[in-house]
Amino acid sequence: MSRWIGETLYPFYQQRFSATEVLFEEKTEHQDLVIFENDFFGRVMLLDGVTQTTDRDEFVYHEMIAHVPIFAHGNAKKVLIIGGGDGGVLREVLRHKNVECTMVEIDASVVEMSKKYFPEHSDGAFDDPRCNLVIADGLKFVKETQDRFDVIIVDSTDPIGPGEVLFTSEFYSDCHDCLTQGGILVTQNGVPFFQEDEVTTTQGRMAPHFKDMSFYVVAVPTYIGGFMTLAWATDDVNKRQQSIADIQARFDQAGFETNYYTPGVHVGAFSLPRYIEKLLK
Ligand code: SAM
Repeated sequence: MSRWIGETLYPFYQQRFSATEVLFEEKTEHQDLVIFENDFFGRVMLLDGVTQTTDRDEFVYHEMIAHVPIFAHGNAKKVLIIGGGDGGVLREVLRHKNVECTMVEIDASVVEMSKKYFPEHSDGAFDDPRCNLVIADGLKFVKETQDRFDVIIVDSTDPIGPGEVLFTSEFYSDCHDCLTQGGILVTQNGVPFFQEDEVTTTQGRMAPHFKDMSFYVVAVPTYIGGFMTLAWATDDVNKRQQSIADIQARFDQAGFETNYYTPGVHVGAFSLPRYIEKLLK
């Protein structure tokens, strides 16, 4: 008998998964972590009742949050990931041969359980000598580090629980100060069809710290509600709008294959549907 496990994200609408086997269900030091098996999606992870990742569709989000800023930058050598405990972003970042990566995740249990139950997410990336894993709060890390990064990727939970501090003006300002000249900050920013306020609030808090701030979109099947937005911020106003040919040249040079990301998708993702554009000031 399978058990139905539902998200508790919205009071008016719910996504439910049939769990054929619950593999892990525990309150970690920071949040409720549930990992289970589903016949279609493979393994699924929920944190505090919200879908984080599934075997079946993880490539969509992880490719778009990693490759868009790195290919747009063009010469990224040092990347910082905040959150991302399942290892999927790390795997995609380290596909770029010249990159080394610091990953700051608050919850060691998410990393440990992901290594055990989602080995294909990290695909060995945690053991790559170019990975420096730090178990710490991302806000504290960016405030205290003396390191500087070409790209910062914030793969956080939603702005509730431990992830809340990663949506503050203080955090965005500290990220700005951790970036090298022309560096790029990208953050997961919710599904605007349901979470309009995440777009408006993030714009209000992030834009004052950067010369250029906007969003790009990606459609992740299990982040229900259509497109999700990824926030984009940099002082280099030329990095957001580049030609497909320029991005294609870098993609060809990198020499790896993708399942969602293409240079055309990269450039097109910055063209926002009108209902999202209307949320922007
Ligand atoms: N892709 C997912 C999404 O868009 O909802 C996020 C997946 S990833 C598992 C989110 C990670 O952010 C979690 O492992 C969580 O522990 C981590 N996290 C939350 N707050 C954090 C903080 N303040 N500092 C560092 N990591 C944090």
